[in-house]
Amino acid sequence: MKIGVLALQGDFERHATALARCGVQAVEVRKPAELADVDGLIIPGGESTTLLKLMDAWGFVPALEKFHAEGRPIFGTCAGLILLARDVDNPRQFSLDFIDVGVERNAYGRQRESFEARGTASLDGRATPVEMVFIRAPRIRRLGAGVETLARHGDEPVLAQQGSVLVATFHPELTDDPSVHEYFCSMASRAAARRGAVVRAAAAGEASLGESPPCEASR
Ligand code: GLN
Repeated sequence: MKIGVLALQGDFERHATALARCGVQAVEVRKPAELADVDGLIIPGGESTTLLKLMDAWGFVPALEKFHAEGRPIFGTCAGLILLARDVDNPRQFSLDFIDVGVERNAYGRQRESFEARGTASLDGRATPVEMVFIRAPRIRRLGAGVETLARHGDEPVLAQQGSVLVATFHPELTDDPSVHEYFCSMASRAAARRGAVVRAAAAGEASLGESPPCEASR
Protein backbone atom coordinates (compact mmCIF):
# COMPACT_ATOMS: atom_id res chain seq x y z
CA MET A 1 0.00 0.00 0.00
CA LYS A 2 1.16 3.53 -0.78
CA ILE A 3 -0.10 6.76 0.79
CA GLY A 4 0.43 10.06 -0.98
CA VAL A 5 1.29 13.26 0.84
CA LEU A 6 0.42 16.46 -0.99
CA ALA A 7 3.84 18.11 -1.20
CA LEU A 8 3.05 21.59 -2.50
CA GLN A 9 3.63 23.50 0.76
CA GLY A 10 3.61 22.92 4.51
CA ASP A 11 4.93 20.16 6.73
CA PHE A 12 4.57 17.23 4.33
CA GLU A 13 7.93 15.69 5.31
CA ARG A 14 6.79 15.04 8.86
CA HIS A 15 3.80 13.10 7.53
CA ALA A 16 6.13 10.92 5.45
CA THR A 17 8.11 10.16 8.63
CA ALA A 18 4.91 9.37 10.53
CA LEU A 19 3.80 6.99 7.75
CA ALA A 20 7.20 5.28 7.75
CA ARG A 21 6.71 4.69 11.48
CA CYS A 22 3.52 2.79 10.56
CA GLY A 23 5.48 0.73 8.02
CA VAL A 24 3.70 2.36 5.06
CA GLN A 25 5.38 3.80 1.99
CA ALA A 26 4.81 7.54 1.56
CA VAL A 27 4.80 9.13 -1.89
CA GLU A 28 5.21 12.89 -2.28
CA VAL A 29 2.48 14.09 -4.64
CA ARG A 30 3.36 17.23 -6.62
CA LYS A 31 1.29 16.66 -9.76
CA PRO A 32 -2.31 15.46 -10.17
CA ALA A 33 -1.20 12.44 -12.27
CA GLU A 34 0.71 11.12 -9.24
CA LEU A 35 -2.62 10.53 -7.46
CA ALA A 36 -3.26 7.53 -9.75
CA ASP A 37 -0.67 5.50 -7.86
CA VAL A 38 -1.74 5.98 -4.24
CA ASP A 39 -4.36 4.35 -2.02
CA GLY A 40 -4.94 7.40 0.17
CA LEU A 41 -3.82 11.02 0.43
CA ILE A 42 -2.75 13.26 3.30
CA ILE A 43 -3.21 17.01 2.87
CA PRO A 44 -0.83 18.55 5.41
CA GLY A 45 -0.93 21.70 7.49
CA GLY A 46 0.57 24.88 6.15
CA GLU A 47 -1.20 27.99 4.90
CA SER A 48 -4.52 27.14 3.30
CA THR A 49 -4.57 30.23 1.04
CA THR A 50 -1.13 29.37 -0.37
CA LEU A 51 -2.10 25.71 -0.76
CA LEU A 52 -5.24 26.77 -2.64
CA LYS A 53 -3.27 28.93 -5.07
CA LEU A 54 -0.79 26.11 -5.77
CA MET A 55 -3.54 23.50 -6.11
CA ASP A 56 -5.33 25.74 -8.56
CA ALA A 57 -2.17 26.42 -10.57
CA TRP A 58 -1.46 22.67 -10.93
CA GLY A 59 -5.07 21.65 -11.70
CA PHE A 60 -5.51 19.61 -8.50
CA VAL A 61 -9.19 20.38 -7.85
CA PRO A 62 -10.76 18.12 -10.55
CA ALA A 63 -8.16 15.41 -9.84
CA LEU A 64 -9.00 15.45 -6.11
CA GLU A 65 -12.73 15.36 -6.90
CA LYS A 66 -12.17 12.20 -8.93
CA PHE A 67 -9.94 10.67 -6.23
CA HIS A 68 -12.64 11.34 -3.61
CA ALA A 69 -15.45 10.02 -5.85
CA GLU A 70 -13.51 6.74 -6.20
CA GLY A 71 -13.72 6.35 -2.40
CA ARG A 72 -10.00 6.69 -1.85
CA PRO A 73 -9.43 8.06 1.66
CA ILE A 74 -8.17 11.59 2.30
CA PHE A 75 -6.81 12.88 5.63
CA GLY A 76 -6.53 16.65 6.14
CA THR A 77 -4.65 18.13 9.09
CA CYS A 78 -5.15 21.78 10.05
CA ALA A 79 -4.85 23.69 6.72
CA GLY A 80 -5.70 20.35 5.05
CA LEU A 81 -8.97 20.26 7.02
CA ILE A 82 -9.70 23.84 5.95
CA LEU A 83 -9.38 22.76 2.30
CA LEU A 84 -11.67 19.73 2.77
CA ALA A 85 -14.47 21.48 4.73
CA ARG A 86 -17.86 22.46 3.32
CA ASP A 87 -17.59 26.08 4.49
CA VAL A 88 -14.75 28.24 5.69
CA ASP A 89 -14.87 31.47 7.65
CA ASN A 90 -12.41 34.16 8.75
CA PRO A 91 -12.29 34.98 5.91
CA ARG A 92 -14.58 33.00 3.61
CA GLN A 93 -12.65 31.10 0.95
CA PHE A 94 -13.08 28.28 -1.55
CA SER A 95 -13.01 24.74 -0.17
CA LEU A 96 -13.50 21.27 -1.63
CA ASP A 97 -16.65 20.34 0.34
CA PHE A 98 -15.63 16.69 0.94
CA ILE A 99 -16.76 16.75 4.59
CA ASP A 100 -19.84 18.45 6.00
CA VAL A 101 -18.19 20.74 8.54
CA GLY A 102 -17.92 24.50 8.87
CA VAL A 103 -14.55 25.77 10.09
CA GLU A 104 -13.20 29.07 11.33
CA ARG A 105 -9.56 29.71 10.48
CA ASN A 106 -7.08 30.89 13.13
CA ALA A 107 -9.85 30.54 15.68
CA TYR A 108 -7.87 30.38 18.95
CA GLY A 109 -7.00 33.73 20.52
CA ARG A 110 -3.49 35.10 20.16
CA GLN A 111 -2.31 33.70 23.47
CA ARG A 112 -3.41 30.21 22.58
CA GLU A 113 -2.52 30.33 18.91
CA SER A 114 -0.28 27.33 19.47
CA PHE A 115 -0.54 24.81 22.28
CA GLU A 116 -0.34 21.12 23.10
CA ALA A 117 -2.93 18.90 24.72
CA ARG A 118 -3.71 15.29 25.41
CA GLY A 119 -7.01 13.67 24.64
CA THR A 120 -8.74 10.39 23.95
CA ALA A 121 -9.78 9.36 20.47
CA SER A 122 -12.24 6.63 19.57
CA LEU A 123 -10.40 4.73 16.81
CA ASP A 124 -12.15 1.63 15.47
CA GLY A 125 -14.18 1.54 18.67
CA ARG A 126 -11.11 1.61 20.93
CA ALA A 127 -10.45 4.51 23.32
CA THR A 128 -6.93 5.58 22.35
CA PRO A 129 -4.86 8.30 24.07
CA VAL A 130 -3.65 10.92 21.55
CA GLU A 131 -1.20 13.78 21.75
CA MET A 132 -2.40 16.92 19.99
CA VAL A 133 -0.35 19.89 18.79
CA PHE A 134 -2.40 22.89 17.70
CA ILE A 135 -0.67 25.55 15.56
CA ARG A 136 -2.74 28.59 14.53
CA ALA A 137 -5.45 25.98 14.30
CA PRO A 138 -8.97 26.24 12.92
CA ARG A 139 -12.01 25.32 15.03
CA ILE A 140 -14.84 23.18 13.75
CA ARG A 141 -17.84 25.44 14.33
CA ARG A 142 -20.50 23.32 12.63
CA LEU A 143 -20.71 19.55 12.31
CA GLY A 144 -23.08 17.98 9.76
CA ALA A 145 -25.34 15.08 10.75
CA GLY A 146 -23.25 12.53 8.80
CA VAL A 147 -19.98 13.46 10.49
CA GLU A 148 -18.64 11.40 13.39
CA THR A 149 -16.51 13.01 16.10
CA LEU A 150 -13.54 10.79 16.96
CA ALA A 151 -11.83 13.10 19.47
CA ARG A 152 -12.62 16.29 21.35
CA HIS A 153 -10.62 18.99 23.06
CA GLY A 154 -12.88 20.26 25.82
CA ASP A 155 -16.33 20.11 24.25
CA GLU A 156 -15.16 20.70 20.69
CA PRO A 157 -14.54 18.16 17.94
CA VAL A 158 -10.88 18.09 16.87
CA LEU A 159 -10.79 14.78 14.97
CA ALA A 160 -13.75 13.89 12.75
CA GLN A 161 -14.68 11.53 9.94
CA GLN A 162 -17.30 11.31 7.23
CA GLY A 163 -16.95 8.16 5.12
CA SER A 164 -13.55 8.20 3.44
CA VAL A 165 -12.58 11.65 4.75
CA LEU A 166 -10.72 12.14 8.05
CA VAL A 167 -9.85 15.58 9.42
CA ALA A 168 -7.90 16.89 12.41
CA THR A 169 -7.60 20.47 13.62
CA PHE A 170 -4.27 19.46 15.20
CA HIS A 171 -0.97 18.00 13.93
CA PRO A 172 -0.52 14.32 14.83
CA GLU A 173 2.63 14.22 12.65
CA LEU A 174 4.45 16.53 15.08
CA THR A 175 4.32 13.98 17.90
CA ASP A 176 5.82 10.50 18.25
CA ASP A 177 2.32 9.11 18.65
CA PRO A 178 1.47 7.05 15.54
CA SER A 179 -2.16 6.20 16.43
CA VAL A 180 -3.96 8.66 14.13
CA HIS A 181 -1.75 7.79 11.14
CA GLU A 182 -2.23 4.10 11.89
CA TYR A 183 -5.98 4.64 11.86
CA PHE A 184 -5.82 6.46 8.50
CA CYS A 185 -3.65 3.68 7.04
CA SER A 186 -6.26 1.13 8.11
CA MET A 187 -8.99 3.24 6.40
CA ALA A 188 -6.87 3.27 3.22
CA SER A 189 -6.15 -0.46 3.29
CA ARG A 190 -9.85 -1.31 3.80
CA ALA A 191 -10.78 1.00 0.89
CA ALA A 192 -8.08 -0.58 -1.32
CA ALA A 193 -9.43 -4.06 -0.51
CA ARG A 194 -12.98 -2.91 -1.43
CA ARG A 195 -11.76 -1.44 -4.74
CA GLY A 196 -9.85 -4.66 -5.46
CA ALA A 197 -13.00 -6.73 -4.82
CA VAL A 198 -15.05 -4.53 -7.20
CA VAL A 199 -12.40 -4.81 -9.93
CA ARG A 200 -12.21 -8.63 -9.49
CA ALA A 201 -16.02 -8.95 -9.59
CA ALA A 202 -16.17 -6.87 -12.78
CA ALA A 203 -13.39 -8.96 -14.36
CA ALA A 204 -15.13 -12.21 -13.33
CA GLY A 205 -18.41 -10.91 -14.82
CA GLU A 206 -16.68 -10.12 -18.10
CA ALA A 207 -14.91 -13.49 -18.14
CA SER A 208 -18.13 -15.46 -17.60
CA LEU A 209 -19.91 -13.45 -20.31
CA GLY A 210 -16.93 -14.09 -22.60
CA GLU A 211 -17.12 -17.86 -21.95
CA SER A 212 -20.71 -18.30 -23.16
CA PRO A 213 -21.66 -18.00 -26.81
CA PRO A 214 -23.54 -14.77 -27.53
CA CYS A 215 -26.91 -16.57 -27.92
CA GLU A 216 -26.45 -18.26 -24.49
CA ALA A 217 -25.57 -15.00 -22.82
CA SER A 218 -28.65 -13.26 -24.15
CA ARG A 219 -31.10 -15.99 -23.04
N1 GLN B 1 -3.67 29.10 10.01
C1 GLN B 1 -3.50 28.27 8.85
C2 GLN B 1 -4.61 28.54 7.81
O1 GLN B 1 -5.56 29.17 8.11
C3 GLN B 1 -3.48 26.81 9.22
C4 GLN B 1 -2.32 26.53 10.15
C5 GLN B 1 -1.78 25.14 10.09
O2 GLN B 1 -2.01 24.38 9.14
N2 GLN B 1 -1.00 24.81 11.08
O3 GLN B 1 -4.54 28.11 6.73
